[in-house]
Amino acid sequence: MAKYKEILDNAKKLAEEHQKEESAVLILLLHFSKMESAILYANINEECPNDVFDSFNDALNKYIYDNIPVQHITGYETFYGYNFIVNGDVLIPRVETEELVENILYEYDDLFDGKVDVVDIGCGSGCIGITLALEEPNMNVTLTDISFEALEVAKKNALNLGANVRFLQGDMLEPVKKEKFDILVSNPPYIPDNEDVCSLVKDNEPWVALFGGEDGLKFYRIILSQAHEILKEKSIIAFEHAYDKGEAMVNLAKKYFPNANVKLIKDIFGKDRMTIIINGGK
Ligand code: GLN
Repeated sequence: MAKYKEILDNAKKLAEEHQKEESAVLILLLHFSKMESAILYANINEECPNDVFDSFNDALNKYIYDNIPVQHITGYETFYGYNFIVNGDVLIPRVETEELVENILYEYDDLFDGKVDVVDIGCGSGCIGITLALEEPNMNVTLTDISFEALEVAKKNALNLGANVRFLQGDMLEPVKKEKFDILVSNPPYIPDNEDVCSLVKDNEPWVALFGGEDGLKFYRIILSQAHEILKEKSIIAFEHAYDKGEAMVNLAKKYFPNANVKLIKDIFGKDRMTIIINGGK
């Protein structure tokens, strides 16, 4: 039997040699040892049971040599403290998107009091809409996606996490065209069609969730050009977008909502990542 420290050090070295993430190695070891990170580090000089090591090693090989994302090996990604099931039918929730959720919760507190109707367009795993419903019980959340398979994953997540939300299948705003909402949120596919994407992402995540037309702004244009039809007078639109599209997003927002308060917000890495449009606010 080898000690956890040795196993972790060797695996990190292997990851580095293959230009893979060291953090992914830790995620796998935590998963297969069924430990929280504080517990693992407290036991780092203990011996790792053989069966745990074997499962970890198989998984490590899949990650390093077969180019499989760790979230597809463990079957989930943690988002805002909740475990979301993921597979090849949905985008793996990203850490930046947690900040989108956080900012919507702030803006909600600022602008509203009591019940609001929220729609998450292109929900994928459901991470945004489900988290909002869990964090703010006053949010009555509808999630839409064009992909039947993605909705199946999102429905499982809502059930597992105990979120009382509604799902509708369809393209962009189509399924909610006859309704009115207080908050519209979307993290649509935003990679320009011709941009190079690393193979771990391109080979494993659904293209329909990644690419957003020639300049990556296709879905923002569709949503913004139709959003007035489904929004109440006092309302919030919140988008995540590519770090280099801040100015373009503000211009688009002002084009369709000239009287709105448009906020461009940076993520924890200091990159322009979110645009929030407030209609009828203070
Ligand atoms: N809304 C989901 C997420 O933020 C899916 C986004 C997408 O598929 N582009 O993870």
